Amino acid sequence: RESGQLGRPNSENGGGQDAKNLRVKLVLLGDSGVGKSCIVLRFVRGQFDPTSKVTVGASFLSQTIALQDSTTVKFEIWDTAGQERYAALAPLYYRGASVAVIVYDITSPESFSKAQYWVKELQKHGSPDIVMALVGNKADLHEKREVAVQDGMDYSEKNGMFFIETSAKTADNINELFEEIAKRLPRPPVT
Ligand code: GDP
Repeated sequence: RESGQLGRPNSENGGGQDAKNLRVKLVLLGDSGVGKSCIVLRFVRGQFDPTSKVTVGASFLSQTIALQDSTTVKFEIWDTAGQERYAALAPLYYRGASVAVIVYDITSPESFSKAQYWVKELQKHGSPDIVMALVGNKADLHEKREVAVQDGMDYSEKNGMFFIETSAKTADNINELFEEIAKRLPRPPVT
């Protein structure tokens, strides 16, 4: 089932979205191995389990958070299911997404370049009001860092994206990532 477009009430299809209860499709993009599945598992289940794969075909996990203004945001989180290897399929995957979380690994400059590729791709083919977040994951591996914090910051600033460094391993900034995204979502008009 297609999820509702962000920021538009979809009562006409019974989707249950209103000004106070948003439902958003969120896609994860980034090189294989940067920690996308681990970020989702940490957020949804509060666990770090590198052996457990959430990536199963065309399915998603969902998690609802409540904001201080009593709005709730239900994230329907789509993991790439290895589609990073099939760039041609990507538009099918991110079509209709309100949020894109583009992840790299701070120990891998290649993954940072790949993240930039995905940003350009979304700027070309994503929905125009998509909220994009750039995430430097594995921040716990600071001795192995090869991408400076400043590089992530500069790039995201130039591209109008939200930026954060996270660790799925230690849980650092994982909830903050999703809370910050929630705050940046356009709101449907109050009726
Ligand atoms: P995906 O292919 O992007 O979904 O990556 P995974 O979530 O499968 O993670 C790939 C590997 O990176 C696994 O071995 C994880 O244990 C490891 N990993 C993921 N997140 C972190 C993190 O924040 N810190 C560290 N040190 N390792 C991580």
